[in-house]
Amino acid sequence: MTQELHIVGGGMAGSEAAWQAANAGVRVVIHEMRPKVETFAHKTGNLGEMVCSNSFRSDDDEQNAVGLLHWEMRQANGLIMATADRHRLPAGGALAVDRDPFAETVTATLMAHPNVSVSYEEVTALPEDGNWIIATGPLTSSALGAAIQAETGAEALAFFDAIAPIIYAESIDMSKAWMQSRYDKGETEEERTAYLNCPMDKDQYEAFIDALLAADKTEFHEGETAGYFDGCLPIEVMAERGRETLRFGPMKPVGLTNPHQPDVKAYAVVQLRRDNALGTLYNIVGFQTKMKYGAQTDVLRMIPGLEEARFARLGGIHRNTFLNSPTLLDAQMRLHSKPHIRFAGQITGVEGYVESAAMGLLAGRLAAAEIIGAPMPDLPQDTAHGALVHHITGGAEAKTFQPMNVNFGLFRPLDGMKGGRRGRKDRYKAYTDRAKSAWSDWLAAQTSVLA
Ligand SMILES: Cc1cc2nc3c(=O)[nH]c(=O)nc-3n(C[C@H](O)[C@H](O)[C@H](O)COP(=O)(O)OP(=O)(O)OC[C@H]3O[C@@H](n4cnc5c(N)ncnc54)[C@H](O)[C@@H]3O)c2cc1C
Repeated sequence: MTQELHIVGGGMAGSEAAWQAANAGVRVVIHEMRPKVETFAHKTGNLGEMVCSNSFRSDDDEQNAVGLLHWEMRQANGLIMATADRHRLPAGGALAVDRDPFAETVTATLMAHPNVSVSYEEVTALPEDGNWIIATGPLTSSALGAAIQAETGAEALAFFDAIAPIIYAESIDMSKAWMQSRYDKGETEEERTAYLNCPMDKDQYEAFIDALLAADKTEFHEGETAGYFDGCLPIEVMAERGRETLRFGPMKPVGLTNPHQPDVKAYAVVQLRRDNALGTLYNIVGFQTKMKYGAQTDVLRMIPGLEEARFARLGGIHRNTFLNSPTLLDAQMRLHSKPHIRFAGQITGVEGYVESAAMGLLAGRLAAAEIIGAPMPDLPQDTAHGALVHHITGGAEAKTFQPMNVNFGLFRPLDGMKGGRRGRKDRYKAYTDRAKSAWSDWLAAQTSVLA
């Protein structure tokens, strides 16, 4: 093998990418800046360090999308999953991990691989040639961040996420909510009905503001706040500035008529906007928040129409470097403008240890196949990996793109399955069965491609 694969960043994604490519017979160099250059969250120089919680979330591969991702990674001989299983801690249905031995084992396993070497250095520029995967995560160093921004444009690289909560469409009560764009703006019927509206009367609004002010909030890390406060204030901060601020901001009731009560003027309106092309997910417009997760669900379910809302992801504001992947990456996670560079992990706009490692797994395999010169079978969209990569590279709305966890809202609906809460168990089982079969076929088709 003459060509090497260079991977920048030895976190969740970079470690998994290196393992997959090295097992396919490709020589891999991991460029990792720690321990020489530190981040505010990492504590060691280990590869695969978990920066905060020690949980890989649900391990249920029949009823949970992240559990399905675990299953798919295990089938693909994933290093991150095998090491997590080896250092598993008791945590009910979740997969919790003993973090230090986990990262030590990831490091030792990669170091012992004959095809892997590690170069401890910060990469500060985008390489002009060779085969590269950039997996530098939410805390990408400033110099490399600046180089990526220079290549992609200021709008295309974010340094913070401001995530508004995302809700499964099927859990919204449409006997209270309705579809309408403000002032019926738009050329087509689809545009004129692009928003989903939830009305509030005065009492409901006042109670909502009280709950918002009283809710438990997460504190900002030191040095974390710079850059937030232009255009993406958390809703609770807006409420603190005045009880009417939200009613004149994201909750303004103008230009809308409630077809359920055409004679009653709403005092405030919460708007939701479609979050994916499938129309299975909606985000609450302008509702980025630092409320703690438990408080968030309680407060948001006070909104008429959202009493039974189920959340595909909750809101948050964090330091997070990520690309506008729907506009920048192709379906193989290559940068359109420099296709010798792939991106993987959280910097692509997925969120979480497992999702990041999964994107590393894909990038490692895809890069290896390209280097070997072997045709790779198309990744099936109906797998957890496929649904996630399809979302970030095309299915998501580019204008409002924010990082995403894996969830069943990203999956193509199944014909003939019952919607709503009642059919959920059967539906999720059908999603996971469909995914497992497609993933197994995809892996089997690679045996002649990758070693
Ligand atoms: C404060 C914080 C808390 C979080 N808490 C959680 C949590 O509880 N649960 C969860 O699932 N996710 C959490 N996340 C998200 C988490 O970071 C990701 O889930 C996961 O670690 C991302 O994997 P990754 O491989 O993309 O990035 P990382 O695991 O961060 O790996 C990126 C690697 O790139 C290296 N690097 C950066 N720039 C350069 C450079 N220029 N040259 C060379 N190396 C470089 C870094 O040192 C790092 O080792 C948190 C993130 C942050 C910032």
